Amino acid sequence: MKLNIIGAGLAGCEAAWQAAERGVSVRLIEMKPEKYSPAHKYKGMAELVCSNSLRADIVTNAIGLLKEELRRMNSLIMEAAEATKVAAGGALAVDRYKFSDYITEKILSHPNIEVVNSEADGIDPDAVTVVATGPLTSDKMSEFIEQKLGCGKLHFFDAAAPIVSADSINMDIAFMASRYGKGGSDYINCPMTKEQYTEFYNALITAREAELHDFDKESQKDIKVFEGCMPVEVMARRGFETLCFGPLKPVGLPDPKTGKEAYAVVQLRRENDEGTLYNLVGFQTHLAFPEQKRVFSMIPGLESAEFVRYGVMHRNTYINSPGLLSPDYSLISSPNVFFAGQMTGVEGYIESAASGFVAGINAARRVLGDDPFIFPRETEIGAMAAYVSNGGTGDFQPMNANFGIIAPLTEKVKGGKKARYEKYAQRSLEMIDNIKNDI
Ligand SMILES: Cc1cc2nc3c(=O)[nH]c(=O)nc-3n(C[C@H](O)[C@H](O)[C@H](O)COP(=O)(O)OP(=O)(O)OC[C@H]3O[C@@H](n4cnc5c(N)ncnc54)[C@H](O)[C@@H]3O)c2cc1C
Repeated sequence: MKLNIIGAGLAGCEAAWQAAERGVSVRLIEMKPEKYSPAHKYKGMAELVCSNSLRADIVTNAIGLLKEELRRMNSLIMEAAEATKVAAGGALAVDRYKFSDYITEKILSHPNIEVVNSEADGIDPDAVTVVATGPLTSDKMSEFIEQKLGCGKLHFFDAAAPIVSADSINMDIAFMASRYGKGGSDYINCPMTKEQYTEFYNALITAREAELHDFDKESQKDIKVFEGCMPVEVMARRGFETLCFGPLKPVGLPDPKTGKEAYAVVQLRRENDEGTLYNLVGFQTHLAFPEQKRVFSMIPGLESAEFVRYGVMHRNTYINSPGLLSPDYSLISSPNVFFAGQMTGVEGYIESAASGFVAGINAARRVLGDDPFIFPRETEIGAMAAYVSNGGTGDFQPMNANFGIIAPLTEKVKGGKKARYEKYAQRSLEMIDNIKNDI
């Protein structure tokens, strides 16, 4: 039996690669370049539509642990990230174009993968299928999924940060540094006095927002902003100092000109290896483009900044997975159909890739007639699968990797949270090392 995978994003590419590596013939169906979602712009696969950061890279952080689990199991997404990373302090960030090109090249040259560029509007009943069409699944496919699953889809909103060219930043004001000096001087920092911050703050909270797309208006009444991607203007409206404790936190970033911490600091992170482009960290926004130029140019150091991409805000779609999906990401009512990626209710690039990993190997096992492989909840990859398939009742919400969902430790660990997280990591990685050759 053939394996169809719909969507060549983070989840679909990982799923296709894992299945193909296990000897299964894969047909990967991707609608680009024939059709693009409102956020996708690049022709390549596994496009990062917003930040170029894949977040923390230490195993005592849940997302760092998830990365290490994937690395040890030969994840294509992690291989590409290592090959295309850019300097980003303690985080793992990539050059988004090289990252996409790397994955596209690997997929296109795999002998077991056939790529078909067309929009899918349903599922072939005679094939095992992984649906990995993402948070911006095309309407035709959304309709099919709604009918197939017999439940309404949920919407919420994500926002993307603007990017500026490095040579347009005034380095007489801005300075290079990482917080607390960790990982070298990877970020450009724009310090603000209280007066400068006050002026900026007042402009930000009163700036004009962009018109919503028609498809977004439909769901406007049910807007749920994901905390990790909250528009900066929405966060600012929570209170005068909220940003100073969030993305504009000045601690650990003394201005070399004064030796003191400023009242607030805007950080900019590299977008590419060459360091020619930088994004405004935490500045996902839904402001109208001219308003972004006006308000963000008030940031000291950005007065003449060239905005090569403005921030945008888009719909996000996910299914109500608990009760619909098994922990191998297959549909309980139709086990030949698997779901993967953000639309299952995992949240984030690496989480999407991880769900693609689990769905890919299990879809391959189904084709080969093998039993499903359920990852233990002691691993972060297994904890995510358990959350998605059994995330409680009521208002199911998308979830980033975190240690709150991993199986609790059975013994008491002295040394507080840090020691506990170290133990989670050690326990998980031992398990991964034991099982990786069996899957
Ligand atoms: C605007 C926005 C910003 C985000 N920002 C971040 C961020 O900064 N950091 C983060 O960690 N996560 C972010 N996310 C969340 C999430 O991590 C990403 O959306 C991630 O790309 C999800 O991976 P995926 O594989 O599920 O979907 P995608 O990577 O979107 O892949 C889905 C693929 O399916 C294709 N497709 C869709 N419909 C069809 C069809 N009918 N037929 C064939 N192909 C189809 C699409 O073209 C696309 O290539 C963001 C999401 C959105 C919407």
